[in-house]
Amino acid sequence: MNETARIVIVGAGHAGGAAAALLRQHGHTGPITLIGEEPWVPYQRPPLSKAYLKDEADAEALKLRPDAFYAEQDIALRLSTRAEAIDRNARRSGCKAAKRSHTTSWSWRRAPRTGS
Ligand SMILES: Cc1cc2nc3c(=O)[nH]c(=O)nc-3n(C[C@H](O)[C@H](O)[C@H](O)COP(=O)(O)OP(=O)(O)OC[C@H]3O[C@@H](n4cnc5c(N)ncnc54)[C@H](O)[C@@H]3O)c2cc1C
Repeated sequence: MNETARIVIVGAGHAGGAAAALLRQHGHTGPITLIGEEPWVPYQRPPLSKAYLKDEADAEALKLRPDAFYAEQDIALRLSTRAEAIDRNARRSGCKAAKRSHTTSWSWRRAPRTGS
């Protein structure tokens, strides 16, 4: 692959975030856009049902990389954005603002504690 090619990654989860970071790490110099329908930078999901629920990790600690990483690495983030269509021949993607009620993944909300 041409290392100056424009790359658009749909899905700003663990895989998408890692792909963007690894491309830069391995010398890709072309523009990289990471599209995610959730409003957050890529974060680890497993602690959501473990340390996060037990108040042993806060939201910042769950992020795969700090917010500043993406600007430092020149990775354009398009969060709260859903890719609706990909036209591979025309090399275009169609996006629209994601509605929170339509997110297909885990909704990052801390459940209220009950009991002691
Ligand atoms: C509570 C919880 C606990 C877990 N615990 C474990 C564990 O202990 N061990 C383990 O191995 N795995 C665990 N998992 C699973 C693990 O987190 C997933 O395997 C992993 O998150 C997969 O990463 P991914 O990037 O491939 O996909 P996802 O995490 O699903 O990320 C995909 C992203 O793409 C976005 N997206 C999808 N379609 C579009 C679109 N059209 N446009 C824009 N954005 C889009 C989604 O909103 C999402 O943010 C857990 C998951 C959860 C939710």
